[in-house]
Amino acid sequence: MNMRKNIVAGNWKMNTTVPEGVKLASEVNEALKGVTPKCDVVIGVPFTHLTAVKAVIDSEKLGLSAENCADKVKGAYTGEVSAAMVASTGANYVILGHSERRAYYHETVEILAEKVKLALENGLKVIFCIGEVLEEREANKQNEVVAAQLASVFGLTAEEFANIILAYEPVWAIGTGKTATDDQAEEIHAFIRSLIAEKYGEQVAEDTTILYGGSCKPSNAKALFAKPNVDGGLIGGASLDAESFMGIVTAF
Ligand code: PEP
Repeated sequence: MNMRKNIVAGNWKMNTTVPEGVKLASEVNEALKGVTPKCDVVIGVPFTHLTAVKAVIDSEKLGLSAENCADKVKGAYTGEVSAAMVASTGANYVILGHSERRAYYHETVEILAEKVKLALENGLKVIFCIGEVLEEREANKQNEVVAAQLASVFGLTAEEFANIILAYEPVWAIGTGKTATDDQAEEIHAFIRSLIAEKYGEQVAEDTTILYGGSCKPSNAKALFAKPNVDGGLIGGASLDAESFMGIVTAF
């Protein structure tokens, strides 16, 4: 039986104050009351917002994600937020490996492997982002880049890997208004699935959700999601407006 899930997940990044975030989450929650989406819906919010947002959403219909967690268990790491802390808010997901964290906070394959391990140990599902920068795409190196990034999750057992959702996000398409074409997305998603099949076998590969991220909006979501290897989206800018976000959710 194919257990692959379609998912549309928002990534609010460093946007909204707590009251603004609670308002946005309430709007998405309200909009979901009227529909039965053909996908799971998740919002990724800043650490400061998790508890307040959790209190206003129907967890049966809307999943809650953090955007990061620490690579350490606990202790003298001033300013860090552990996976256990995230889980204690009632969040069920964490986004890890986002290109902004790789680029600005120097998160390496090894650091990310630690974060993934701790997130899973604390019962969180991981939305793990991979993707190449423009120069790598222009040099046709996207396949080797994503293959190398997958090392952070390919040390997991198949049982652990079942809690990984991959998000292919070409860095050149994030926040730029430039989307990968649906054919470009399909081609690399199929390649990523083939790597999972080599590592864990066909069934695990079939069951793995692979999201597309990068300037996904209501106008292009339908074509992207129609591709057999695109199982939904990780949505940045368009997730900051309930109507646009819902336009993507209902694209399935
Ligand atoms: C993201 O940051 O995960 C993302 C996909 O952003 P945007 O939709 O704004 O390109």
